[in-house]
Amino acid sequence: MNPIRIAVVGLGKIARDQHLPSIRANDAFELVAVASPHSRLDGFPSYDSLDSLLQAHHDVQAVALCMPPQARAAIARVALRRGCHVLLEKPPGTSIAEVEELSRLADERRLTLFASWHSRHGCAVEPARTWLLRKRILRVSITWKEDVRVWHPGQDWIWTAEGFGAFDPGINALSILTRIAPGAFVLEAAELQFPSNRAAPSAARLSMTLDDAPVEMDIDILHAGTPAWEIDVATDAGRLSLGAGGTVLHIDGCPVGITPLQEYEALYAHFAALIGARSSDVDMVPLRLVIDALSKGRRIIQAPFMDNGVRRFASDAGSAAN
Ligand code: NAP
Repeated sequence: MNPIRIAVVGLGKIARDQHLPSIRANDAFELVAVASPHSRLDGFPSYDSLDSLLQAHHDVQAVALCMPPQARAAIARVALRRGCHVLLEKPPGTSIAEVEELSRLADERRLTLFASWHSRHGCAVEPARTWLLRKRILRVSITWKEDVRVWHPGQDWIWTAEGFGAFDPGINALSILTRIAPGAFVLEAAELQFPSNRAAPSAARLSMTLDDAPVEMDIDILHAGTPAWEIDVATDAGRLSLGAGGTVLHIDGCPVGITPLQEYEALYAHFAALIGARSSDVDMVPLRLVIDALSKGRRIIQAPFMDNGVRRFASDAGSAAN
C-alpha cells in the first residue's frame, strides 16, 4: 500500500517532540509538508497556513493539527472540506458543538476524524482497562500535579479561557479514566483557583460520579518539584494504581510488568488503522467534563501568575508529552 501523504500543522513543542518523529517512524505515513504561522521545518516545504499548503500540494490525504485548541476547529473544517483525514491533538476543541460539527463533516464526506487522546496510549492503560473489566468500582482518586513553568513555559495560550489552564494537562487524566472505566460520568461540583491576572485556572478540585462511585480529582499546575500523574481506583476485588501518566501499574501495591510502548507511535498506528477502515474515533466525554467543571465550578481568585520559564523541546533533557 502507498503511504498516506500527511501534513503537520502547528509546529510547536508537541509537533517537534512527538508528531514528526512518530510520522518518520511509521511506514504508513509520508510527511509531505508543514504549515505554521512563523515556524519552518528544515528539509520540508513549509507554509504559513494550511490553505497555502493545500494549494501547493493537492495530493495531501491527511493532516495532524498540533496548534493550540483555540485555532483548531477552523483549520479542521478547511482540511475536511478539502477531503483530508484529520487528527486533532487534545483537547479536540474548545466546545462540544465545535467538535460535533467536525464529526458531522467527516461522516458526510466519509473521512476519518481522530480526536486523539495521547495519554490513552500510555503503555499501562490497556492493561489497567483489562484488569478493571467485570470489577465493581467503589471510588476513584486522581492527583495530577506539575509545574507549568517547566512543562509549558512561555505558552500564553494555556492561560486564555479557551486554553483551559490546569485542565490542559488535567484532561489527560480524564481521558485515561474514561477509557479504563467506561460508565456514566457526571461532574457534581468543582472548585477552581484562578490567578488574578489569568483567564484560566491554575488548580482545580473536582467531585464527579462514575455510575454510583465517587471520583475525586485534584489538579495543580503550579506544583513545584516532582510531577504527580496518578489515578487510584478502589474496586470490590482490589486496588489499581496507575502512575507516571498511565505508564506504571500497581495492583494492591505490587508492580505489574508492562511492555514498553511509545504513546505517539501507538497513536499514529491507530490513526492509520482508522483511515484504512474509513472510520472515526471521537470521544468527547473528557472535554464535556472539563467544560462542565469550568461552567459549574466555584471560582477563587489567587495571587497573579508570572511566567519566568524558557521554551523546552525534545533536544532538552527529560522531554515528555503531558
Ligand atoms: P506550543 O509549543 O505553544 O506550539 C503551538 C504551535 O501552534 C506554535 O508553534 C504556533 O506556530 C502554532 N500555531 C498557533 N496558531 C496557529 C494557527 N492558527 N495555525 C497553525 N499553527 C498555529 O504548544 P504545544 O505544547 O505544542 O501544544 C499544542 C497542542 O498540543 C495543545 O493543544 C496541547 O494541549 C497539545 N499537547 C501538548 C503537549 C506538550 O507536552 N506540550 C503534549 C500533548 C499535547 P508558530 O510557531 O509558527 O507561531
